[in-house]
Amino acid sequence: MIITVAGYKGGVGKTSTAVHLACYFHTLGSTLLIDGDPNRSATNWGKRGQLPFRVADERQSAKLARDFDHIIIDTQARPEIEDLAALVEGCDLLIIPCTPDALALDALMQTVDALHQFKAEQYKVLLTIIPPKPSKDGEAAREEMTAQKLPMFTQGIRRLSAFQKAALQGIPVYEVKDRQSVNGWSDYQSIGKEILK
Ligand code: ADP
Repeated sequence: MIITVAGYKGGVGKTSTAVHLACYFHTLGSTLLIDGDPNRSATNWGKRGQLPFRVADERQSAKLARDFDHIIIDTQARPEIEDLAALVEGCDLLIIPCTPDALALDALMQTVDALHQFKAEQYKVLLTIIPPKPSKDGEAAREEMTAQKLPMFTQGIRRLSAFQKAALQGIPVYEVKDRQSVNGWSDYQSIGKEILK
């Protein structure tokens, strides 16, 4: 499996998604996370603590890739339209995380329009950082996306402080000492299962 995670906007959970999908696929086979984001967020995550899979700089990835069953690619935020077309062609599935707010949705629609122009089909939107009830932002965003006929994951990722702790400590969310860490991990496990369905 080659999965690319792309964000057309910063702070939408792109790196957190790449890291936790790599955790999930690592339970199924050898997994390499390629860090293609110049901010090196995934690389630094691993350096602060420890991740169970290998993280490589994109410049080393060509040689390494053949030794792994699964490859997850974290990309630069705000890719150009042409970059998006190349990204989607270079993977089995392009995942676009999106937070449930109007600004993010607007930016998402522009990205999706561009993907339509390229007749790209193998992409899916993932709703991330969904605030807890009584907020209805998550449901409202999902309704809007469904109305626009966007391909999306049936499950989303909840907003949990365990994810921030995981990034700070440099570990996967399931290793964080927080009563919600199991819920955070189960959200990404559901996405992993949905990808393999
Ligand atoms: P991006 O790569 O799109 O910039 P990150 O994965 O780095 O996004 O996340 C941006 C910020 O939001 C980080 O502080 C991260 O810890 C936090 N974050 C990511 N996902 C969640 C979540 N599901 N719940 C709460 N905070 C999150």
